Amino acid sequence: MDKDPDRNLSEIEERLRFFKDIGADFVFKTKRPPARPDPAASPAPPPGGELPPPSRDIGLVHEEILRCRKCSLAGGRTQAVPGEGNFRTELMFVGEGPGHDEDVQGRPFIGRAGQLLTRIIAAMTYDRADVFITNIVKCRPPDNRVPHRDEVEACAPYLLEQIGAIRPKVIVTLGKSATDFFLPDAIGGMTSIRGRFYTWRGLQVMPTFHPSYLVRSEGNKEIKKMVWDDMRKVMAFLGKK
Ligand code: SF4
Repeated sequence: MDKDPDRNLSEIEERLRFFKDIGADFVFKTKRPPARPDPAASPAPPPGGELPPPSRDIGLVHEEILRCRKCSLAGGRTQAVPGEGNFRTELMFVGEGPGHDEDVQGRPFIGRAGQLLTRIIAAMTYDRADVFITNIVKCRPPDNRVPHRDEVEACAPYLLEQIGAIRPKVIVTLGKSATDFFLPDAIGGMTSIRGRFYTWRGLQVMPTFHPSYLVRSEGNKEIKKMVWDDMRKVMAFLGKK
């Protein structure tokens, strides 16, 4: 943990707020889940094999995203939102697309759902700046609709370049759109897909609910517990206490 007492205090406060959100002391009492993914539960990697080595600096990728007009989402955005965080992290979070606040400020996951994600990350004993956060499309879909297939396909090379450059050990997919990007053959809704590791191009993918779903389901502690169970599996895999 950081040596700055103020920063430590705020991290502890974030963590405790999330624990309060999800309902108390079971966090400290339940047994830690298995630390390794279950290979039998993981479908075969999709065509495409391993990720190619990074071909250019990730900063250049982000500069290109900011100028990009490859799909129709460019027409309605205030600005593109490439993503932010640590380019050398072991842990990456991928959501669906920027919302209103993200579009205005140019940063991912900073609205209400983003604040909850920040608390989840703190509860996992990471700083938000320790991980990398992005979306499958980098520009806001109108009225926050689900991105269309052609938009996802147009934007996919940027996400693949980001993943190729960062090479995290674990990618947490937030919600169905992001999960479908990595696991197009997974059958069922998030309730059945979430909570176990899948192998994707040699990396581990952990699907879980989107924080905006948690915000919309405020009061439903079961959903928050499910997300926390998923994140504990990620922590165990990454050797976090
Ligand atoms: S969503 Fe992606 S592909 Fe479409 S304009 Fe934005 S950066 Fe370019």
